[in-house]
Amino acid sequence: MTKTYKHFETAVIHEGYASEEMFGSLAPPIFQTSTFAFTSAEQGERRFSGEESGYIYSRLGNPTVNILEKRIAALEGGEKGLAFASGMAAVSAVLFALTKANDHILCSVGLYGCTFGLLTMMKEKYHITHDFSPMRTKEEIRSLIRPETACIYIETPINPTMQLIDLQMVSEVAKEYHIPVVVDNTFSSPYLQRPLELGCDVVVHSATKYIGGHGDVIAGLVVGKKDFIDEIAMTTQKDIGGVISPFQAWLLLRGLKTLPVRMDRHCEQAETIAKKLARHPAVTAVYYPNNDIQKKQMLRGGAMISFEVLGNKRTAQLLLNQLKLIKVAVSLGDTETLIEHPATMTHAIVPEDERLKMGITDQMIRLSVGLEAWQDIWSDLKQALDHIQAEAQSVVSK
Ligand SMILES: *Cc1c(COP(=O)(O)O)cnc(C)c1O
Repeated sequence: MTKTYKHFETAVIHEGYASEEMFGSLAPPIFQTSTFAFTSAEQGERRFSGEESGYIYSRLGNPTVNILEKRIAALEGGEKGLAFASGMAAVSAVLFALTKANDHILCSVGLYGCTFGLLTMMKEKYHITHDFSPMRTKEEIRSLIRPETACIYIETPINPTMQLIDLQMVSEVAKEYHIPVVVDNTFSSPYLQRPLELGCDVVVHSATKYIGGHGDVIAGLVVGKKDFIDEIAMTTQKDIGGVISPFQAWLLLRGLKTLPVRMDRHCEQAETIAKKLARHPAVTAVYYPNNDIQKKQMLRGGAMISFEVLGNKRTAQLLLNQLKLIKVAVSLGDTETLIEHPATMTHAIVPEDERLKMGITDQMIRLSVGLEAWQDIWSDLKQALDHIQAEAQSVVSK
């Protein structure tokens, strides 16, 4: 296939698929099959030995899934991609591939709740320890690197505090020690941020979020160097088995086609809503990426906003209960605007003292700005904020 384009917006639609090889089918076919028949016993032998390339069994590779893997690799600017049944299947496959018993992982402060749960399990079962660092300076990172540090694992923007980490700076330190840097790029999508281009080694995604984009699929993706991806494919993916189904892969291929268009609108709306939230008297703080690091590594600030309200856990819950259009739900990146209370939902698994150290208070609320008219999103938020304002003030004055 010769490439006739060089822009991201074209790659999301065409990369990795040649309709002329599929009866001209404009949409990629869904190869809904578990296994692939060999023409002879000898061919089966050649496929298994690797002497001949070709499909064997869908846990080891599937044509629909491969289109998705080629496409995401190109979009992240990496050599090879691999698709998984969920974001957590992707995260766990990468972390188990990079570590062995008694190793150490250096993490950003603030991680997706289940990634925190996975790290806790790895520590308890395999003595794979971890440290959290805000990673503000090279010195701060160097001070926590040990001989047994196997990788650096980062989320930026950090969920749900929306703090940013300078990816280029971290990758420079990691290179001094020859330690790979893994970035969970879920909140930005490759349209806003491409960690591999900043020197990082592996990107993971919960494709459930912006990549799928429509709230109808759970899936994960990994992109990195060919050797590393091949290793995962033959170990922690093949033998643990968290593979994506062909239909899920097809949904992601469809979602990806509109990623740039959706992200532009998501971001534009979030920028407007963040400004309006900051001016409401019931809101005490707004967290939305908009600083030098954002300008350096993200095309725009994204569409996730966290904010704190006056009062306590009760007023935060009252706000959620008062909403009429916005859905109270975890997840993010969907067409629908979603709102949640991290302390009791996504980050309930994190012990309270750790949670407060991460900056997740009882008054914090996380908003995923959807694609409804921003005026409707704001008017729903405003009526709920107005409602809690009186209540919150009476709590504060007590
Ligand atoms: C949702 C999410 C995950 C986990 O993905 P699943 O698809 O739910 O398994 C990992 N990291 C981040 C940042 C997420 O938002």
